[in-house]
Amino acid sequence: MMQGAFRVTFLGTSSGGGPSESRNCSSLVCDVVGDGTLWMVDCAEGTNRQFAFQDRSSTNLRSNKVTKMFITHMHADHIMGIIPFLRNILYPPPVAKPFPVSKPPAIEIYGPCGIRAFVRQVMKMTCTRTADFWTVHELLTPTDRKTPCLPHSDAADSTYELDVMHKTEVAGRDIMCSEDGFWKAFTVSQSLFGELFVDAGPISHRDPCLGYVIREAAGPMRKLVILGDTSDASAIIPLCVNPPPSLLVHEATDAHIPRHVDYNATRTPEAVLDKALSRGHSIPSMAGAFAKSIGAERLVLNHIGGRFPAPKYARDRRTAVMKEIEKQATQAWGSKTRAIAAYDFMQVIIPPVLPTPREADTESDNEESNEEERGSPMDAIQTAETVTMQLHHADPNEGFLYASKKRGRGDRDRRRRR
Ligand SMILES: [Zn+2]
Ligand SMILES: [Zn+2]
Repeated sequence: MMQGAFRVTFLGTSSGGGPSESRNCSSLVCDVVGDGTLWMVDCAEGTNRQFAFQDRSSTNLRSNKVTKMFITHMHADHIMGIIPFLRNILYPPPVAKPFPVSKPPAIEIYGPCGIRAFVRQVMKMTCTRTADFWTVHELLTPTDRKTPCLPHSDAADSTYELDVMHKTEVAGRDIMCSEDGFWKAFTVSQSLFGELFVDAGPISHRDPCLGYVIREAAGPMRKLVILGDTSDASAIIPLCVNPPPSLLVHEATDAHIPRHVDYNATRTPEAVLDKALSRGHSIPSMAGAFAKSIGAERLVLNHIGGRFPAPKYARDRRTAVMKEIEKQATQAWGSKTRAIAAYDFMQVIIPPVLPTPREADTESDNEESNEEERGSPMDAIQTAETVTMQLHHADPNEGFLYASKKRGRGDRDRRRRR
């Protein structure tokens, strides 16, 4: 366990066509505060079950450690797991004891206009009763409809009244964007290295969509940029630079695969691009170009289309296709680091590398400046970073390891025995 490392674990990496045999739909968790709590971005149907499916030898995520949830947009493949997730982590209400009138919320949900009405109404209409409380804060623009938080009522017809809260709902904030269209530092938390801010900004998709920026104000100054579905994220660029992000998570829903990589692939590059754009999505080179424009240090491709299942074995066709997708993004990114196509349960670890003179002097040869720093306490951390990138990045030349590899083998063995 590396003290103070940021850990981002992908719980679902499929586009809206999923879930599929190898991928659940969108959800990821960030371990950034350093006290064991987790922050979730999006919560697709089946997210609860992904916690049960994790390989405990590599991750040990607990759903009841999630204290904040950030929703990128209202599409079903990003929000349909919220209610079951709340049911799971907020526990059933006490039977014998009197029901508490109010408690601080155990989880805070942030998201675009509509998310409060959605969670509230489904909680009410499914007669969901919980022991712990919850709240929804909406990130609003001037043209959005506000959803008021009138006190809970046991009257039967209040179930259908949008403005009346659920029994264990706490009134949330209506957070208006500033004139530049951003929600800056709309939540602030204390982490190991000081204050941790979260910003949000709009990105282009078929319907209103947000990207989130989680950043340290001091210390290592790490920054995570996690975008929702998009065909053009340029509007959020001002939040993504100065400093550049340690990690960019960008969707790559579709991709053109040449025949020499997959002989079943018949679509032209133009047809693939047209389809992606018409649906508000990106191809790998668009993710790479965006990473280049903001100087991202790491790039993970997410929200992968159903045509591209996660690899099971190091040398199967699936692996070749995912490597091709990574190659296209890496070329557009123009980085020495390889872009990584996410798979379920993949974990990216970002060590607390403090700013060094080497980072300011980008022209200098990295190896040379590492020599100069030999003996400094930073060496251990730099080495740790290399190791984690190898572990979780897989081998750039040989393809990467799929988290369910062991399970996949087991299936095959069972079939053989039958
Ligand atoms: Zn989606
Ligand atoms: Zn979408």
